[in-house]
Amino acid sequence: MPERECFGGLLTGYPEVAVDRFDGRCLNASYFLLSHLHSDHMRGLDSAELRSVLQSQPQPRLLLSRQSAALLTSWPRYAALAPHLCPLEVGVPRQLTDRLVVTALPAAHCPGSVMFLLEGGAGGTVLYTGDFRLDNHQLADMKALHDADGHPKPIQALYVDTTFCVPQRRELPTRSRSAESVLRLVTEWLDRAPDHRVNLDCKARYGYEHIFRRLHEATGMRVHVDAEKIQLYERLPDIARCVTSCASETRLHSCRPGSACLRDGSGGPLRSITLSTMFFFMNQAVDCLEHHLGGERYRVLYSFHASLGQVREMVSYLRPSRVVPCVVPPNSSLESVVALLGGASEPRLELQSGRLPTARATHWERRPSEVLQPHRQHTGRRQPPKEIKRIRPKVESPARRQGHQRSPQPAVGAQEERADAADTRPAWKSPFDSD
Ligand SMILES: [Zn+2]
Ligand SMILES: [Zn+2]
Repeated sequence: MPERECFGGLLTGYPEVAVDRFDGRCLNASYFLLSHLHSDHMRGLDSAELRSVLQSQPQPRLLLSRQSAALLTSWPRYAALAPHLCPLEVGVPRQLTDRLVVTALPAAHCPGSVMFLLEGGAGGTVLYTGDFRLDNHQLADMKALHDADGHPKPIQALYVDTTFCVPQRRELPTRSRSAESVLRLVTEWLDRAPDHRVNLDCKARYGYEHIFRRLHEATGMRVHVDAEKIQLYERLPDIARCVTSCASETRLHSCRPGSACLRDGSGGPLRSITLSTMFFFMNQAVDCLEHHLGGERYRVLYSFHASLGQVREMVSYLRPSRVVPCVVPPNSSLESVVALLGGASEPRLELQSGRLPTARATHWERRPSEVLQPHRQHTGRRQPPKEIKRIRPKVESPARRQGHQRSPQPAVGAQEERADAADTRPAWKSPFDSD
């Protein structure tokens, strides 16, 4: 697969921070942010160079969600990073320096995945989404993205996941809808004969837990996964109860290709369901949910990346001064992504290639006359999309507002004495990606 990422790990105005890249110029940073554990966000993470930089720091400087920290340390390859991890509570601001504050926010991409909100640097308020798939209401519910009056904070730059921002498929089925499609294919096959079995072919190492949970709830069966995944899921109790290492106890399999239980003659007839997104993007003629490949082979569209529609809604809601695409979608170009998002919302966005030297990404910005004034100078309220508006946080009373004012955790230095997504483009595999 061609290289499609166009984000180099550095954020304009935040030279002390590197995000999801741990090699090259990023090693000049002082703080390292890891949004989730897919391999295309982990380059250099296991390198001696990074460890050397981290060891030169007096405090842990590798920031990630608490869940990602637990998952990462379950893998021997990254064990040496344990002393350098600085787990963040989601939604709780963390003061890194006198001026620099970072907040991890839910990204709903895979277990442990977060977005990062950075405030206080020369780059102003910056939101880096990493890979994300948020429903509209989840964005509106995030206090850290809103001021005390419940208005979205002025965002200077939005570094956004544009993996599937193509016009051919503006919307993607929700993961719940995909799960129901899988469930229907599973139960229809299992009900035909007591020895029928299903193989769920998942492209990435993790990120399909929603499906496992739904199948377990509906059939009472656990999903057979390989020992490596069992080890991983031990850190996720909610998922651990839905999977098993015992192949003979279940008719649901999502084990390693070539596993003994998937070979001919090892059990009853198999129906194979491949969960993927890219296939549906590369084959525009097929339906946008499930596709019968022939025999007992099916594909179901399952995306843990935001659709074009969801990215547009995010841009429309936050109205950032600059939007920086992080990925060039399949069969597309950066210019095409720009046109799609620029036409999505007012004000207009435009391409400005190579103007900002600190990040490798191509940026586009509002025309100067369209740059938002500081929010408090606005006379009119920013209007979110209808879906969001219904559930926007209410304006709080002064007393309650005071209680919600930012109370940063102690600076890292003071307190820390003590991973289809990636499946489509990794140059190497993290423990959490496909084989
Ligand atoms: Zn990812
Ligand atoms: Zn199996």
